Amino acid sequence: MKVIKIGGGCLNGRKTIAEIIGLLEQRGPGNIVVVSALYGITDLLIESMQAALEDEKAIPRIMSRIRSRHLLVARYLILDAALMKQFSRDFSRSLIQLERLYYGLNFTRQVTPRLHDIISSFGERFSALLLAAAMQSRGIKAAYRLPQDIGLVTDGKFGDATVNMRQTRLNFSRRLLPMHTSRQVLFLPGFYGVSEQGEVTTFGRGGSDYSAAVVTAATGADLLEIWKDVDGFLSADPRFIPEAMLIPELSYDEAAELSYFGARILHPRTMEPLRAARLPVAIKNTVDPDRPGSRITPDRTVSDGVVKSVAHTTDIGILKVHASGVGARRGVLGRVAAGLAGSGINIKSVVTSQTCISLLLASEDLDAGEKALRELSPSPFRRLEAIRDIALISIVGEGLASRAGVAARCFAATAECRVNIEMIAFGPSPVAMYFITRKQELKKAVAAIHSHFFGPARCLI
Ligand code: ASP
Ligand code: MG
Repeated sequence: MKVIKIGGGCLNGRKTIAEIIGLLEQRGPGNIVVVSALYGITDLLIESMQAALEDEKAIPRIMSRIRSRHLLVARYLILDAALMKQFSRDFSRSLIQLERLYYGLNFTRQVTPRLHDIISSFGERFSALLLAAAMQSRGIKAAYRLPQDIGLVTDGKFGDATVNMRQTRLNFSRRLLPMHTSRQVLFLPGFYGVSEQGEVTTFGRGGSDYSAAVVTAATGADLLEIWKDVDGFLSADPRFIPEAMLIPELSYDEAAELSYFGARILHPRTMEPLRAARLPVAIKNTVDPDRPGSRITPDRTVSDGVVKSVAHTTDIGILKVHASGVGARRGVLGRVAAGLAGSGINIKSVVTSQTCISLLLASEDLDAGEKALRELSPSPFRRLEAIRDIALISIVGEGLASRAGVAARCFAATAECRVNIEMIAFGPSPVAMYFITRKQELKKAVAAIHSHFFGPARCLI
C-alpha cells in the first residue's frame, strides 16, 4: 500500500480536479489519499476570520463564497443524483459547524489560536468529502475519515502541532486499517490532528505534507507519493535560473534543508516521521505522472559536483545584537533567546562572534523581535540593529562539509561576478551552507554560484 498526497495547487479548477479523479481511478484503489484544501480555500478561511471579527454581517457572504466554490466543482464531478444529495447533506452539516465558529469568533471578539486552528482546518474536510463523493460517482469504492475519527493524535500545540506517533499508530491499527480494503480509495483530510483533549490542532501552513508522512509511517505503507504541479526539487529557482535542473534523488537531510530555506516544495517537517522507518518519497507531477520526478530516500548519495541545489529566500531578516565579550560573558545569548521566545518568535539560525550575535528571523518577525529585545531590562546589549534588505542563499548537498574548498569556490564565483557575500554560516547541518547577500544582488549571486557548479560559468550583468 502507498499513501498519495494531493496538494492544493493541483486542486485548482473543476477540469483539473476531474483529471486528478481520473488518475485516482487507476492509481487510487487500495491506497490512502491525504488531501489539501482546494486551491485558495485555506487563505479564504483565514482571511475571513478578520472580516467576521469586524462585522457579523460579513458572515453570510463568507459562507456563500465557500459554499459556491465547492458546489461548482461538485456539480461538475458528482453526476449521480443520489450521491449528490448525500454530498450536499454532509457538506451542509459541515458548513453549519463552520458558520457557528465564525459567529463565535464575532461574539467573543477574539481570534484565539484555538479558533484559528479549527476554522482553518475546514478546507481539508471539505475536499476529502468532495473527492470521495466524486470517486464514488465514477463507480469506484471510496470512503473518507476525519483525523478525529481515526485518532490522529497531536501534542496539542496550536498552529505547529507534532503527532504522537506511538499513539497514532495504535489508533490506526484499530480504527483505520480494519476498514480499508484493496479495492477502496480512502480519503483523509491533511493539515490537522486532534490533541488528547480533542482539540483540532494544525501543523502550520503547508502541513498536509507532514500529515501524509505521518499517515505513511503510522499505517506501515511502503511509499509516500506527493502529487504536485511540479516535477520536484530543482537545482535553483527556475524564475532565477531558467536552465535549473531536476534533482533526481535527495537524502532526507537535503530535502529538509531545501524545505526550510528556499524551495517551497514540501513542508519542512515532512521528513520527520519517515526517517525512522526509512520510507521513501516520490514527487509526481500530475500533468505527467509517469515522468520521473524527485525521489527522497534514506541513502546519502554524494553527487559529482557535491552541490545539488542553490536555493534562496528573501523571507528573512537579521537582528544584530552588539555587545562586547559575547563569547566571554555568561547568559547573554540565553537572555536574548529567551526574550524572543517569550514573544513567540522563532529564531531560524544564529551566528555569534565576540562582539555580536546575529539572529536570523523570518521577515515578518523582525519588528516584533526588535521590540522584544529593546524591552529587556537591564539591557544585555550595547546596540541593536535590524537588517531588512537581505536574502539568504543556501547551498545544499550531501558531502558538503567534508569536501574541501566548496565555500572558497562560492566566494570565488561571486567575486568573479562582483557580488558581495556579507556573511556565511556553516549551519550545524553537514549538508548545507548559508550565505547572506543584499536583496538587490541576490539574483546575480545565485546565478554566479549556480553557473559555477552546474556550468557554463557566467555572470549576469
Ligand atoms: N491547506 C493548508 C495550507 O494551505 C495545508 C496544506 O495545503 O498543506 O496551508
Ligand atoms: Mg503544500
